[in-house]
Amino acid sequence: MTKKKIGVMGGGILGTNVTHFLSQYPDAEVILFEKNTIGSGTTAKSAATHCLIDDSVAHEFWSVRLFGFEFYVGLEEEEPGSAGFEKTGTLIVAPYEEYEDYILQAVDLTIASGYEAKYMRDPEEILEIIPDLKLDGILGAGWCPDDGFFDATMISNTLARKAREAGVQVLIGTEVQAINVKDGKVTGVETNKGHFDLDVLVDASGPWTKFNGKKVGIELPIWHTKAEVFILNPTEKLGYEFPVLKYPRFYARKDKDNVFICKAHLTMDLNNPEHAGVWNPDELPLTGGTDPYFWDFLSEELMEHYPRLLEASLDNDWVGYRAEPADYLPVLGETPVEGYVLAIGAGGNGVIEGPTIGRDIAKYVMTGEKSWYVKRLPLSRFDEDGEVRMVGLQK
Ligand SMILES: Cc1cc2nc3c(=O)[nH]c(=O)nc-3n(C[C@H](O)[C@H](O)[C@H](O)COP(=O)(O)OP(=O)(O)OC[C@H]3O[C@@H](n4cnc5c(N)ncnc54)[C@H](O)[C@@H]3O)c2cc1C
Repeated sequence: MTKKKIGVMGGGILGTNVTHFLSQYPDAEVILFEKNTIGSGTTAKSAATHCLIDDSVAHEFWSVRLFGFEFYVGLEEEEPGSAGFEKTGTLIVAPYEEYEDYILQAVDLTIASGYEAKYMRDPEEILEIIPDLKLDGILGAGWCPDDGFFDATMISNTLARKAREAGVQVLIGTEVQAINVKDGKVTGVETNKGHFDLDVLVDASGPWTKFNGKKVGIELPIWHTKAEVFILNPTEKLGYEFPVLKYPRFYARKDKDNVFICKAHLTMDLNNPEHAGVWNPDELPLTGGTDPYFWDFLSEELMEHYPRLLEASLDNDWVGYRAEPADYLPVLGETPVEGYVLAIGAGGNGVIEGPTIGRDIAKYVMTGEKSWYVKRLPLSRFDEDGEVRMVGLQK
């Protein structure tokens, strides 16, 4: 049997998901190229919350959320610790009616999918979960005890290990430096470890895709938005189990005894140079680098909703770059260069979307069949300026 030679560029949560699903096809010969270590890019900086009741991915994509959640929980059940699941539950607070409607729908979807969830209007009931919240002007809150957050770097390493066991070559410290194209088709790559012949190269290089796309002459419609994180160490221990906490503009989760807090990615404005631009991810420090505006933003939010968290010291902070297209949705599948396939643009949702992207891109590469998700999110939906050309369902 002649095997299809497939390279995957990038060993983050998307690349390792794609690699894992490709490894299940007997007629695929797969090589994963990661220039650093597995799960060391944006993935390492992630909150990796994967809540069932959440506004981060529209309900049009409910099956994407559910498949991702159940896939990771399945890894954890198979091998405890392999996905780093912390089942803390999620509390999502509704300050206005449109958001409340969204949460009510999420509660219905969660229950219909076989999980526990409820919507609470009684402030006393909400305060049983987080006693220090300030609920003035709040309409209610959704609660799901069955979800929480994962460890995205752990998942990437688990998937890379499984792929290796299934025969994939996982090459770390291996940078794709050039992509060879002949007659409009990918034929191989040049790396710091030598040349590799390929039939297909899947680009899963997260924020680096902006530069890697140029290796085949394509300007990809990706911006970087800054994901700024504070790890707050409360002066006095909170004294209660801290769930994932979501508001429309920010979210938090526990980080051992501390609190990990971040600005919601859908609040990022691609036209605001404080929020978005094109930067070099190789120049990002491991820690530090947060902007003063972020502290101003966060302290205002905490003052309004959770003043007790202002009584905390800052234990750590960092910045990650989310790879974000203009419609905040991934870019999947074919490009004008035959064999150069995209699994990019997951922005603030790559952990949630990783398994569906992995499954569907693997199927597309191996069979040519496009799932509804791949059809919905093609590169061709953008014009030359990266603006969305078409809205609604894509052909
Ligand atoms: C602070 C923060 C909080 C977040 N919270 C959540 C959350 O709660 N839930 C959620 O679902 N998502 C969240 N996200 C988003 C999520 O983490 C990202 O969408 C996801 O990690 C992106 O994964 P990726 O595989 O596309 O990119 P990356 O993890 O960046 O991986 C790309 C990899 O490609 C490699 N690479 C680049 N160029 C080359 C090359 N030429 N050759 C070889 N290798 C190369 C890089 O070294 C890197 O390892 C968050 C992100 C941040 C920063």
